Amino acid sequence: METVYDLAVIGGGASGMAAAVMAAGRGRHVILLEKSAAVGRKIMASGNGRCNLMNTGPLRYRGESAFAQAVISRCGPERQKAFWHRLGLIVSEETEGRVYPCTFQSSSVVDALKMGLKQSGAEVRTGAEVLSCTLSDHQFRIRLSDGSIFSRRLLIASGSPAGKNLGGTDIGPVILRSFGHRTVPFEPSLTPVRTDRVSISGLAGIRVRCSIALMDASGNAIAREKGEALFTEDGVSGICAMQLSRFVDGSGQWIEIDPVGRLFPEEDALYRELQSRQDAFSALDPTALLNGLMLPRLSYAVLKQAGIPLRGERAGDLDDAQIRSIVRTAFHYRLKVMGKRGISDAQVAAGGALCSEFSPESMESRIVPGLYAAGETLNVDGDCGGFNLMFAFASGILAGEHI
Ligand SMILES: Cc1cc2nc3c(=O)[nH]c(=O)nc-3n(C[C@H](O)[C@H](O)[C@H](O)COP(=O)(O)OP(=O)(O)OC[C@H]3O[C@@H](n4cnc5c(N)ncnc54)[C@H](O)[C@@H]3O)c2cc1C
Repeated sequence: METVYDLAVIGGGASGMAAAVMAAGRGRHVILLEKSAAVGRKIMASGNGRCNLMNTGPLRYRGESAFAQAVISRCGPERQKAFWHRLGLIVSEETEGRVYPCTFQSSSVVDALKMGLKQSGAEVRTGAEVLSCTLSDHQFRIRLSDGSIFSRRLLIASGSPAGKNLGGTDIGPVILRSFGHRTVPFEPSLTPVRTDRVSISGLAGIRVRCSIALMDASGNAIAREKGEALFTEDGVSGICAMQLSRFVDGSGQWIEIDPVGRLFPEEDALYRELQSRQDAFSALDPTALLNGLMLPRLSYAVLKQAGIPLRGERAGDLDDAQIRSIVRTAFHYRLKVMGKRGISDAQVAAGGALCSEFSPESMESRIVPGLYAAGETLNVDGDCGGFNLMFAFASGILAGEHI
């Protein structure tokens, strides 16, 4: 006799593991199918290996954000903290409402979930890639490369194609479409921005604390962020830059980086500082003017963009207009936007299955009873700061609890 599970979960990531722990903990016969050799690979990589697993501040969701709010209102930070506590994980709240495991190691989150799976009796099968699913006689048939599994309920928790090297796929919407659900195409949401090569020449690998703004072709700010930007081989990354990426549309936009505004309240204050440095360092190379305010490679780039000749000139030789130009450029270092990296390099994808076709109480399909979806497979994406994992865990917990 073929085993018929109460629940088959596709995807051993954040939402799938949370759902399996909840459902198996309530006595359901659960199987979790994960195509990779290990569960929780994206969680392991999250938050630079520290796992920013939720956020207690105001919600920052896009896509069907009202659905995300409805889910979080039922399973918000307090319920999630209790969930983690039951799995033995203590969390620590840091600045801006960001919550991490108290060890600041993603592996603690994955270990807690694995322990929960073991204790609840959920069956975990890794290296099990789901190819397709069908429904007949109130039973789902889940096809793997080496056979089929049967289950009365099915949870699609296979995430998105973001972070392809960490297991990202678009199988979730493919399966959901086969059951009549509608989907929005996936797009990179949090991803590095590509810029012109000239303005980033020599800067790859440099991290800079700054304000960063995306400007339209007419010079109006589309979005602003603060944080640590990371120059890359083809542009700029880091949380603050990735937050801007969703507004990149290829219409002649610019990025402006301001590494000095946090040190000087306005441009005149930096101007006065540079004047006194010009006196003090008059015989030195002009880069001496920005020494200690930013890393030398960035000083050089700022002076170049400010149009300062760097062929043996001395700081004392610069005239007032040149000092003003350095000040302006230091506050508005410009990078021409050429596009953004694709979905494989993104941390999060926008798009997915239409949430309006699922219940925010149970995550059950309004079209096919017994079919559920959770996490990034759904048309919700959040800002950096723990919002994506918080939605994945909330939707997984609600689905597992309902099942
Ligand atoms: C580098 C990086 C850093 C991040 N940092 C943060 C952070 O600090 N905070 C935050 O909130 N969010 C962060 N995110 C986003 C967050 O990790 C995701 O939003 C979240 O993991 C989504 O959970 P999920 O359950 O929907 O999908 P996932 O956690 O991606 O799990 C989906 C699982 O399904 C499996 N799968 C896919 N297809 C199949 C198939 N056909 N058969 C079987 N299994 C399949 C995948 O291998 C994967 O394990 C980060 C993402 C990345 C890539």
